Amino acid sequence: DKPTVLVTGGAGYIGSHAVLALRDAGWPVAVIDTLVTGFRFAVPDDVPFTQGDIADQPLVEALLRSHHVGAIMHFAGSVVVPESVADPLKYYHNNTVKSRALIESAVRCGVPHFIFSSTAATYGTPEESPVREDAPQQPINPYGMSKLMTEAMLADVAAVHPINYCALRYFNVAGADPQARTGQSTAGATHLIKVAVEAALGKRDHVSIFGSDFDTPDGTGVRDYIHVSDLAAAHVLALEALIADPATSHRLNCGYGRGFSVLEVLDAVDRITNRPITRRMDGRRAGDPAALISDNSAILARLPWQPRHADLDQIVTHALAWERRLDDMRK
Ligand code: UDP
Repeated sequence: DKPTVLVTGGAGYIGSHAVLALRDAGWPVAVIDTLVTGFRFAVPDDVPFTQGDIADQPLVEALLRSHHVGAIMHFAGSVVVPESVADPLKYYHNNTVKSRALIESAVRCGVPHFIFSSTAATYGTPEESPVREDAPQQPINPYGMSKLMTEAMLADVAAVHPINYCALRYFNVAGADPQARTGQSTAGATHLIKVAVEAALGKRDHVSIFGSDFDTPDGTGVRDYIHVSDLAAAHVLALEALIADPATSHRLNCGYGRGFSVLEVLDAVDRITNRPITRRMDGRRAGDPAALISDNSAILARLPWQPRHADLDQIVTHALAWERRLDDMRK
């Protein structure tokens, strides 16, 4: 039978989608989240929820034992790149030090499988695009380094303890649950599609375009936007792969292997709402690469992953539907 999966950060954006994907596939789930950036409403009422810290080892180990946890999906952490530059120690604490404590609890309690939210930011500014998993990992900000250090811990721990892991390196996660059960709820987000749908609904008066002189077809930055529900599905498949072959760990890019420019994203939002957003040309952000596109041949080869929502219009439509839902909830 299926063991319980402990989802850290299960009240956050990606974690809450993973909780739904696991539940929809029949996995028992438990969530731990501090609710510092997550939302209690993002976790279904029938999922056991603990408000607490992943580095609270007595609490975590009690949960692992009482729920007979057979796998951990670890989403909890801090995710804002510019904030990581301004406050690196916060990122090394929340993402690296606390992950170390969680991994130690997993080892102590004999949890055999661990799935980790990693990031394309571990590649820094890749020399080649699409970027493969064996490309050099040279992060250009503390966020990426804090995640890379956790990947390194997992590799070393898996070499000597009875645990295997999958590090999923996310490209640009966007969109929301197609049934609008959850979505990205954090106000003041900096991610392009979130910013654009907020502007489309009148919550911002414009969208800044950070750089129009990149070496890309239209001069604006190109990214590999992945629908959050396809990403959540990849986690469930990764879990099944870890269970099927406990001797093997994985490091897999999560993207579609194609990119859209900032202008293409804004055009899609305009087309779908039939109301143009005000655009402002602005300078490049520090550290923004021109293009970041995944080579996704590894995940396609290792997991039976079939992307269902790779269409940009679908990503934007679902993001918009969730943004409207948030408005209704606040009324
Ligand atoms: N971007 C932009 N305006 C915004 C937010 C982002 O032009 O308000 C651009 C950014 O420069 C990059 C792309 O959109 O080329 C995606 O940025 P985002 O912050 O969503 O993700 P990142 O790739 O930085 O992780």
